[in-house]
Amino acid sequence: MDSPKAGEPGWWPEAEPFRIKVVETIRRTTRPEREKLIEEVGFNVFGLRSEAVYIDLLTDSGTSAMSDAQWAGLMVGDEAYAGSRSFYRLQEAVAGVMGFPLVIPTHQGRAAENVLFTTLVRPGDVVPNNMHFDTTRAHVEHRGGTALDLVTEDAYDPVADLPFKGNIDLDKLEKTLARRQEPTAGTAPAAGADLSIPFVLITVTCNSAGGQPVSMANLRAASEICRRHEVPLYLDAARFAENAFFIKLREPGYGNRAVREIAREMFSYVDGCTMSGKKDGLVNIGGFIALRDPEVYQRATVWAVLFEGFPTYGGLAGRDMEAMARGLEEVVDEDYLAYRVGHVAYLGRSLKEAGVPIIEPVGGHAVYLDALRFLPNLPREQYPAQALTVELYLEGGVRGVEIGTVLAGRDPATGENRFPRLEMVRLAIPRRVYTRQHLDVVAGTCRRVLERRGQLRGLAFTHEPPVLRHFTARFERL
Ligand SMILES: *Cc1c(COP(=O)(O)O)cnc(C)c1O
Repeated sequence: MDSPKAGEPGWWPEAEPFRIKVVETIRRTTRPEREKLIEEVGFNVFGLRSEAVYIDLLTDSGTSAMSDAQWAGLMVGDEAYAGSRSFYRLQEAVAGVMGFPLVIPTHQGRAAENVLFTTLVRPGDVVPNNMHFDTTRAHVEHRGGTALDLVTEDAYDPVADLPFKGNIDLDKLEKTLARRQEPTAGTAPAAGADLSIPFVLITVTCNSAGGQPVSMANLRAASEICRRHEVPLYLDAARFAENAFFIKLREPGYGNRAVREIAREMFSYVDGCTMSGKKDGLVNIGGFIALRDPEVYQRATVWAVLFEGFPTYGGLAGRDMEAMARGLEEVVDEDYLAYRVGHVAYLGRSLKEAGVPIIEPVGGHAVYLDALRFLPNLPREQYPAQALTVELYLEGGVRGVEIGTVLAGRDPATGENRFPRLEMVRLAIPRRVYTRQHLDVVAGTCRRVLERRGQLRGLAFTHEPPVLRHFTARFERL
């Protein structure tokens, strides 16, 4: 008999591996209230005050509930400019969980990118990644570099039920690195070599591909390719623990290994990482760079001082570093991860059973609705995923986010809308925040909208900002 998959009946654990000690009251608004509120913000859920939202699935970033141990850490945190005890606690936690000796704290993940890329990326450089997260791409481009996405084709197929859709395409990586201008020791530069590649990044889990994991075999092989070409390899490690747990669940040979060991093996293949503590650091603010190479560390600290602060606090209070140190230890707990991955999978399964079209398999931090299958009659020029996002709010006070044409923006050359392959609504699940009943409300909301999908109307812009339009755009109903 097959053992139950994450989120299926019989999946362990039966319930949350924590009790609730502090609560935050949330209020369920009425439908007429929501009609008024959404109209006031121009049918853009980014404009809503969080108090007007019943279940907020806008993001899993910085929205985790901290544990009692983390809250206690806030009192123990030591507020010193130089040499804070909490910095050393963070350094120990990073060494213990990830195996890196050197740490530079930063105020969040993109700040870590800013410091590391300012150190390593020069104009004209090319940075390969499985798939760049938005801020990662923006920081590479800000340095005058080109961000190259080399994820496997599988990542673009919304229904391919494959275990590791976040993998980097090894063949493309090999071919890209073979075009390096700098000759690898003992070889002549390849004819026509035209790329300058300071390092390769792999994002775990692959956020922009729906939180899909990367396999250990893929990391190992990518590391071997990078080493052969003498190019450093870094992880964008925002969701490293969720990735490690997927390896345990899905990769042959890892079922009986401890997640802590799996995470250490993942990091053993790379030279360092950038980290957003707002994800698998289980904190509301914080991040860091972790490294092995003292020379890169020395160069990066110069920029860290300029952008973030002295390298023993990096834009954080001592208490923030203390909470992040404790979060890193907690996030590799297997009961927690089984709950986390199972919780997200539970929502996916509930939606599927209700006939709601979703992207499969469900990733680590969010469930994505497939708006093109949900609303096949709405033309893409009427922003079906945005219309669906608005409707989920109206129906149940649930806030998701559009990942589709509104987000993709316009082609700078032609001024035309860019239509991405997928039109999605992301329902990101904050860590340790909502119960299964909340997820049942979310699934019920989606099901009710599905039942009356024939009545849904599309949207048109009334205000369209030239860049990053999704945050502040306003719409009207057609
Ligand atoms: C969130 C995120 C970042 C940026 O981190 P922030 O803490 O939001 O600045 C970078 N990479 C990935 C994969 C992320 O998910």
